[in-house]
Parts: sequence; C-alpha cells; structure tokens
Amino acid sequence: MADGLNLRSSSPEATEELASRIAERLRAGSVLALSGDLGAGKTCFVRGLARGLGIEGPVASPTYLLMQAHEGGRLPLYHFDAWMEGREKALLADGGAEWLHGDGISVVEWAGRVEEWLPLPRLEVQLTHLGPDTRGIRLATRALDGPEGSVLDLGGVLEDLELPAGVEPA
Ligand code: ADP
Ligand code: MG
Repeated sequence: MADGLNLRSSSPEATEELASRIAERLRAGSVLALSGDLGAGKTCFVRGLARGLGIEGPVASPTYLLMQAHEGGRLPLYHFDAWMEGREKALLADGGAEWLHGDGISVVEWAGRVEEWLPLPRLEVQLTHLGPDTRGIRLATRALDGPEGSVLDLGGVLEDLELPAGVEPA
C-alpha cells in the first residue's frame, strides 16, 4: 500500500531542488501531505514545488490564511496550512475539500492535524530535523484502500527519481 523513499538532505537548496523535481512529475489533482516540526522544512519544500511548476514569486507559510493559491505555473499550486486550531472545520466549511480535488496541486502543511479529511491517494512527505542543515525526508505514496487501487496513480512519482546534489538515500 505504501511505497516510499527515505532520504537525507544536507541543505535548504537541496530540499528545494528535490521538491522541484517531484513537482515536474505531478499531475493535476495530486495531493501532498507535509508533516514535521516547526522549522523542519515544510515551507522550503513547498517553495521547491512552486519552482518546479514554474511559479514565480514568494512562497511563505500561509499561517494566517487558510490557503494561498499560486497561479502562473504549469499547474496552480494550492498551499494550505493546518497549523491553527479550528482549521479542520474551516477546511470543510469553506470548500477546502474541493480545492483538494481541484485542477492543480494541493499541498498541506501540518497535514497530521487534518489527516482524516485529506483525500487518498496522496503523497506523504515527512520532514525531520537531523542537524542544523540536515533534514530527513521520507516520501511515501499512499494509495486508496481496497482492491481497486488508486484513481490517480501517484506511484510513478517516486519511481527512478533522480536525486539532486545534497540529497542522498538515508
Ligand atoms: P516549516 O515550514 O517546516 O516550519 P521552513 O521551511 O519554514 O519550515 O523552515 C526550514 C528552516 O530550516 C529554514 O530556515 C531553512 O533554511 C532551514 N534548513 C536548514 N537545512 C535545511 C534542509 N536541509 N532542508 C530544509 N530546510 C533547511
Ligand atoms: Mg511552514
């Protein structure tokens, strides 16, 4: 069911470049669930996704916004932040679930807080602190449960992924 890669990144640039390469492979409707402590590199990863989609302009944690949309790239990037209390309800009430199934890439920081509402299949990205410039990055695709498998095949996203300089198998 879950198929994954355990990696180690040695710089923010390497993490961004990894995310950028993944973004190039993503199809509309893909959902990415990011988890990890404050400063683990979730927003850094999203910045890389944006770059890989050809989106220009700044990407920041949308901590005081439910969702920040970034247009102008190959696909729109919908950047959610579930950090604040009550976000779960807002995600449901304001049609967040529709964005999640939308025409672009949806990426959610602090995904663990809204996990039960996130659709499957999805790509799960777990970031962990290993040192000042070093982060563990676990990438795993999670398919739909049951015999039918995934409606949107994310499996190929990690297949033969060429790792950038500064990212190694852990
Ligand atoms: P989060 O969104 O998870 O709170 P941010 O991406 O905002 O985290 O911040 C990550 C911080 O860690 C940045 O200051 C970044 O420069 C730093 N950092 C150091 N090494 C790495 C690395 N290998 N990958 C990602 N970020 C790193
Ligand atoms: Mg962040």
